[in-house]
Amino acid sequence: MLYDAHSHAKEKDFKKYKNIPVIVNGLDPESNKEVLKFSEKYENVFAAIGFHPTRFSEYLEKEIYAEFEEIKNKKNKIVAVGEVGLDYKYSSKTERPVHKKYFSEILKLAKQINKPVIIHCRQAEGVVAKMLKNYNGKAVIHSYTGNPELIEDIKSKFYFSINTFIFKYPEVKKLVEIVPLSRILTETDFPYITDNPKTSIKKVIREIARIKKFSPEDVEEQIEKNFKRCFNQL
Ligand SMILES: [Zn+2]
Repeated sequence: MLYDAHSHAKEKDFKKYKNIPVIVNGLDPESNKEVLKFSEKYENVFAAIGFHPTRFSEYLEKEIYAEFEEIKNKKNKIVAVGEVGLDYKYSSKTERPVHKKYFSEILKLAKQINKPVIIHCRQAEGVVAKMLKNYNGKAVIHSYTGNPELIEDIKSKFYFSINTFIFKYPEVKKLVEIVPLSRILTETDFPYITDNPKTSIKKVIREIARIKKFSPEDVEEQIEKNFKRCFNQL
């Protein structure tokens, strides 16, 4: 069975997700509501709600903290807290310490409600790796394209979800080489980098199999186990 650990699919896209368990991620209060509604309707759609770092600047601090509360209140309806993280490409130097504070609050919150966090990190890989070094909750680092050396200390402790960027960035191939297969998940980041979940997950599995020198069938089976271990409820 194919699994998608990171998607932004909406209800209108559901046809593309037949027989594919998918974790749909919210980005802000509005999309979090949509994600919850979508996941309640379909058995194979699972909700992750969070606050994307590129969305912070459009909200007041009190609105952001109110949404953090909302995440706690919805803990029984979600399988993870996401999408969250740090994005230094789209934040100014003055915003960064504030975003870091929000992210560390989110990590605490996720640990408190016992859910994995789904992390976006862009041009902030070193900072995220440092923050996670002593984190004892669960985490999925999604679409990592940074220097693989930065995650050396955390590569066996957290999950890494791999999408078709594996064909675009040599760093992703290197990442797959060094991360244990028991820590690898598949994802699409639909609709941003693919509009065909099934085909792209299959292609990614074949590439992981090639790099890890296993059969695609064995990789698919191991990834299924990883999903079940990572997101308890699936
Ligand atoms: Zn995303």
